[in-house]
Amino acid sequence: MKKSDIAKNLAAIKKDLKSAHLIAVTKYSPVEDVVSAYQSSHYDFGENRVADLKEKAEYFKVQKLTKVRWHFIGHLQSNKVRELYKIPNLYAIHSVDSLSLLEELIKRESDFTGPELKLFFQVNTSHEIEKSGFETAEELAAAIDLLKSRTHSKLKLYGLMTMGSIRTTEFEAEATRCFRDLKLIAENLEKNFALKEKLKLSMGMSQDYLLAIAAGSDFIRVGSAIFK
Ligand SMILES: *Cc1c(COP(=O)(O)O)cnc(C)c1O
Repeated sequence: MKKSDIAKNLAAIKKDLKSAHLIAVTKYSPVEDVVSAYQSSHYDFGENRVADLKEKAEYFKVQKLTKVRWHFIGHLQSNKVRELYKIPNLYAIHSVDSLSLLEELIKRESDFTGPELKLFFQVNTSHEIEKSGFETAEELAAAIDLLKSRTHSKLKLYGLMTMGSIRTTEFEAEATRCFRDLKLIAENLEKNFALKEKLKLSMGMSQDYLLAIAAGSDFIRVGSAIFK
């Protein structure tokens, strides 16, 4: 893609961000396009496959593009945790979708070499069968208990993530319902656990990011609207 088109697409999305942050999702893009975005001063990128992220992150490291912040946003298999932890400039995981994955992340924590890793718990607000994520408040509470019980951990509870419904004719209404649900769940957890910091909300993609921002998103994850 032309570098100027990438810069233009980024600028168009950024003008509507309000206080939200933009994660540019690079899963369809060759590394050259990601570098183009970086050169137009965008530093937050999301990938959903460990192998693809590793390839891009290592390229960035060799090129000394050190301001990059990598966000992992895909379903993470337990046997890929070690590989993910070794990725340079890994900043956050948005897709912690089960207690067992959290346990694996904790077990392998010593493989993580960065200063801190922000975790988002993924919540299946649409209840679509093909989506992963925590389904109940009890499961989420257990995950928060587990994370909070550990002192001196680099793993930091940072927020919640969700995706809007895809299989629906009422696309806008359903997406908004999912986003509002996530905000309510976050507010309840903040109250029940007396959390000192508000949970950040990771929600909104190319098709629905304006709805997500209107519903209070802190991180939108946008791919095709930038790179296609
Ligand atoms: C692919 C992906 C996105 C971005 O999707 P677009 O529709 O291309 O903006 C956001 N979040 C997750 C979890 C994804 O897998």
